[in-house]
Amino acid sequence: EVAVLRIGHRPERDQRVTTHVGLAARALGARGMYLAADDPGVALSITDVADRWGGDFFIENDVKWRRCIQDWKAAGGKIAHLTMYGLRMTDVIDEIRGEERVLVVVGAEKVPGDIYGLADYNVSVTTQPHSEISSLALFLDHLFEGKELNREYPDAKIRIEPTKIGKKTVEW
Ligand code: SAM
Repeated sequence: EVAVLRIGHRPERDQRVTTHVGLAARALGARGMYLAADDPGVALSITDVADRWGGDFFIENDVKWRRCIQDWKAAGGKIAHLTMYGLRMTDVIDEIRGEERVLVVVGAEKVPGDIYGLADYNVSVTTQPHSEISSLALFLDHLFEGKELNREYPDAKIRIEPTKIGKKTVEW
């Protein structure tokens, strides 16, 4: 099981990015996202997508990040913190794939220094600065080795029928 913990979210400026962190997490195979901030609007828009497009993605609003990490570890899970300062993803991804439960932590601006020590893995995707959305997407894709790309989403109200040209959807 893989879930995402989003920290450092500022409701006045990070709504769009955090929503996209959640949508990327869902589309690329994570089970859910914990949001370490109180922003029901973000939670609502992701829940809305999950309801329509199926699957069992969860979103938990307003968690305390330290408690979330502690609980995850107490249940035997491991923490993978995405940071450009960490070890190269290509060097650690095989080991992480062997873990049963992984909580992937992504930040916004500067993350609290404690996170580096609490993490079992500090993982850098390219060792260049970019974004939480792109680093999460690449991390999940490498973790699942591309198998997440063609997942089925049970109980969907709408799904896309891939076509060469145009837009085709099936609704129930
Ligand atoms: N400058 C900030 C710092 O010192 O932590 C990082 C800000 S960055 C815009 C926001 C988030 O994107 C980071 O907390 C991290 O989770 C993720 N991120 C950015 N570049 C990354 C990289 N090369 N590898 C892994 N994660 C990255």
